[in-house]
Amino acid sequence: MIKSKKNGELIIISGTTCAGKGTVVQELLKRNGNLEVSTSYTSREKRDGEVDGKDYFFVTDQEFENMIKNDEFLEYAKVQYGKYYGTSKKEVKKLLEKGKDVILEIDVQGAQQIKKLFPETILIFIMAPSMSEVKRRIKARGKESNEQIIERFKTAYNEINEIHKYNYVVVNDVLEDAVKKVEAILISEKCCVDRIEEISLENQEEIIHEFLIDKDFENKPIEIK
Ligand code: 5GP
Repeated sequence: MIKSKKNGELIIISGTTCAGKGTVVQELLKRNGNLEVSTSYTSREKRDGEVDGKDYFFVTDQEFENMIKNDEFLEYAKVQYGKYYGTSKKEVKKLLEKGKDVILEIDVQGAQQIKKLFPETILIFIMAPSMSEVKRRIKARGKESNEQIIERFKTAYNEINEIHKYNYVVVNDVLEDAVKKVEAILISEKCCVDRIEEISLENQEEIIHEFLIDKDFENKPIEIK
């Protein structure tokens, strides 16, 4: 009776450093077969353990700039240490047309660019429970210099100021709770009336409907065959 839009949803997941948004996204992908994450392009160095084409498509600054000239990005931004990060138009279009719901794990600047292009995008911000917990998580990783940690903190504070531009905020204290909250958001968004393309009535329902809009219906018995 209710026909919803065929194309999938665009979902942006952003978050402060060490909020665990990557882990939340991986859990969501395991639980929902209709979700896909779009692989971004970046000009930053590949880290140990990262796989080209899976974590990111790793390109040089020059290659990234050529892609900008060729209008190949839905959005792009210089996110950290002057390095480019961007969402490929081709990749997202392909997934949406298959009816997949597409997660973009991108920063606040990129989120705003996408929101302008597609106002129906669902914007979710994942937060760590506190900044002292962030400090603990960064130190536990033990991979970064003091300068890099300070840089991450500055970015995190700037991003927290932008939270009002998002639709939802989820605090990732206990992973399972955070994942359940994001799942609940996605389920309720699917039921949103804005997603309805058409409401059609079947024969029997048409008959009842006609009786109900008929001025004299009170005087007539409703006969359902
Ligand atoms: P990392 O270098 O730690 O993988 O990512 C740094 C930041 O870049 C994260 O906040 C991540 O959300 C953001 N990011 C990753 N891909 C994209 C993208 O395609 N566009 C934008 N604007 N930000 C991105």
